[in-house]
Amino acid sequence: MCEPALAFPGPPDGFERLWTPHRMAYIEGAERPSTADAAQCPFCLAPSRADDAGLIVARGALTFAVLNLFPYNPGHLLICPYRHVADLTQLTDPEATELVGMTQDAMRASRAATDPAGFNLGINQGDVAGAGIGAHLHQHVVPRWRGDSNFFPIVARTRAVPQLLAETRKRLAEAWVGLPGKVEAASSPCGAEPNSAKGAEC
Ligand SMILES: [Zn+2]
Repeated sequence: MCEPALAFPGPPDGFERLWTPHRMAYIEGAERPSTADAAQCPFCLAPSRADDAGLIVARGALTFAVLNLFPYNPGHLLICPYRHVADLTQLTDPEATELVGMTQDAMRASRAATDPAGFNLGINQGDVAGAGIGAHLHQHVVPRWRGDSNFFPIVARTRAVPQLLAETRKRLAEAWVGLPGKVEAASSPCGAEPNSAKGAEC
């Protein structure tokens, strides 16, 4: 069911809203993992897995790019620090710099792989602001195509998604590898192997 933007409070933005009540179970926490403990945090666990198993698209020295398991659109990426920190102000200067660099690389790789017409970029700070996993900072990079919002929130909860995610991850990772001047994972300031689980602790 769609409703025009004028039916909602706030400045109209010209978009129609598509009701997706099936998403509420996740929004309300039925499937949301607890993130109070870093050992249970999916953004801490993902880098310790192989790229395909963890849906990792690219690894930097201090941050990494992972596909969102609950995408708003195909190719919905999350740029995360390896460290389990919740707030943007907790990032070190090198982490903040790399977060921006990885976001730029994510846009470049996405354009090379799927040619979106635009992007939504953003960070939800705190559960009240909509952060699904509020304890571990993640920057959303959502590719947009004209007319895309009418059906992808629906298909995002279907069984087809895991297969789509694997294919999407492969396409983006291949495009990312070819980027000139991309953020590199070559050096780690804390002496741990870049991108290892140990790197998250330093
Ligand atoms: Zn974490």
